[in-house]
Amino acid sequence: MGDTDSWMLSVFDYFCSKTKILTEYSSLLLENAVNELSKLPGIGKKTALRLALHLLREDKSRTETLSRSLMMLREKIMFCERCHNISDSAVCGICSNLRRDENVVCVVEDMRDVMAIERTASYNGLYHVLGGVISPIESIAPADLYIDHLIQRITQEPIREVILALPATIEGDTTSFYIYRKIKSDSLKITTIAKGVAIGDALEFTDEVTLGRSIQQRTLFDQG
Ligand SMILES: [Zn+2]
Repeated sequence: MGDTDSWMLSVFDYFCSKTKILTEYSSLLLENAVNELSKLPGIGKKTALRLALHLLREDKSRTETLSRSLMMLREKIMFCERCHNISDSAVCGICSNLRRDENVVCVVEDMRDVMAIERTASYNGLYHVLGGVISPIESIAPADLYIDHLIQRITQEPIREVILALPATIEGDTTSFYIYRKIKSDSLKITTIAKGVAIGDALEFTDEVTLGRSIQQRTLFDQG
């Protein structure tokens, strides 16, 4: 290798190190896209690269539609002012459905549980999404959840039964017990989903038949 070649190589190395043109992706634009995609939960660098390359192979309009739908989601999505479920309007489709039984309210941790219970087609009441469960480890206190609003709903709406459908974990049980203590009264039936949901299971991962049976065969909440 002559002097000129080695000089050119060292200049080239310097240029690459400064501009990062020769990354493992051979394109900074691709690298940026992969980095952003891999920040999503469950998406590693390999999957992110596969998704980015897939979008590049597809018609450009597909990427535009995807970008637009994500922006619309961020800008237009609302949370139901009655039950805190995700919604396209101020009051969600379940709360505004006159065929739903407004005497029964099912208390769940988050909107994924609403979706899981709706898929069972075994429940016709309303919901109340807490937005989490009480967790001292994660510094989630009762005031961080929509518990006060649940209490307010019980006084303002014709609710006769509250179903506590929280996860069978220490945090879920603690939250159920806390709510039970806050809302118990002679005029209110407080139940909990029972059979079939394994200890530690998240509702969203429970199969539809098991979850459907659990909500139909609910039992009175036992404070013991
Ligand atoms: Zn609602």
